[in-house]
Amino acid sequence: MIHLPRKDNDAPPARLVCANALTQLRNAVLHQDGERYTTTYYRDDTVTELLRPYSIDKLTLELRDWPKCNYCESQVEKAVTLQVEHYRPKAKVDPKDTGGAAHTGYYWLGIEWSNLLLACPQCNGPSAKHNRFPIRGVRATAPVLFDAQGNLDRSNCHADQNPLLAEDPILLNPEIDHPENFLTFDTQANMSGQGPDAERGEKSKDIYNLNRPLLVQDRLEVWTVFKDDILIDIGEHMMGEISEETLRYAFKNICRKILKRSGAGEEFALWGRYINDHLEDFIGVDITDNYYRDLFRNAYYAAIGAGVAVAAVAP
Ligand SMILES: [Zn+2]
Repeated sequence: MIHLPRKDNDAPPARLVCANALTQLRNAVLHQDGERYTTTYYRDDTVTELLRPYSIDKLTLELRDWPKCNYCESQVEKAVTLQVEHYRPKAKVDPKDTGGAAHTGYYWLGIEWSNLLLACPQCNGPSAKHNRFPIRGVRATAPVLFDAQGNLDRSNCHADQNPLLAEDPILLNPEIDHPENFLTFDTQANMSGQGPDAERGEKSKDIYNLNRPLLVQDRLEVWTVFKDDILIDIGEHMMGEISEETLRYAFKNICRKILKRSGAGEEFALWGRYINDHLEDFIGVDITDNYYRDLFRNAYYAAIGAGVAVAAVAP
């Protein structure tokens, strides 16, 4: 999960503000029932077409761009299909998060643009986020939604204003929070909470199920591919098949690819950023020879333009 810029809440997709959508909203509010929305509204193409580029911090998708799950950062081809997800559940809050009490959910937010994210079925499914929404303190109650004449006042149906601003959610929202302040990894790609409020990271990791085995394996593979390339190049140099100049060039290319993994459009960008921030931990284990490790370190710092160099002593 990485931080994403806020969607423009003053310019929601037309489908979410058309007359029929307002009728649905009115119906859901009247009956305090978030199940009354027809899913075609928030799953409409005009909605997903805005959410998909937003998921990789872009305005429009370009060729070879893949949208990502806002939570686990899997690209769509691995996630099968991305779903429009309600950050605050529209029809029910899981009793695990309400002390066992039944809760109607945030039924007035069913087609609220700022409440919608894009998530894969593994993060959003029954074994993960689903209707979970733990908070600290007092849960917000529905605002006044009808005026004296009985007309629905949609200006009170937004998620980015009180009473919801006063609520204290535990789950990280990539549009509001900076996940890097709450989440970290170990070198085996296992995620954990960190920082002064590590509990939010821990609970988000658990509820979005961000350490599911296949996901951890996919993340780890990012480094494994780099490591294998590094070790193959070192092996070829040791065998005298390539010169040191060629090895330096090969390392430079690998370092550029490692740096590129930090980009918002990359799959698992938070993990890519971790690899870059902790590169010493990775090469300290995987490049056992000091000479080659120094050579690689120099290539990396040259690639980031930091100009930090240490002497590489030939074996
Ligand atoms: Zn996901």
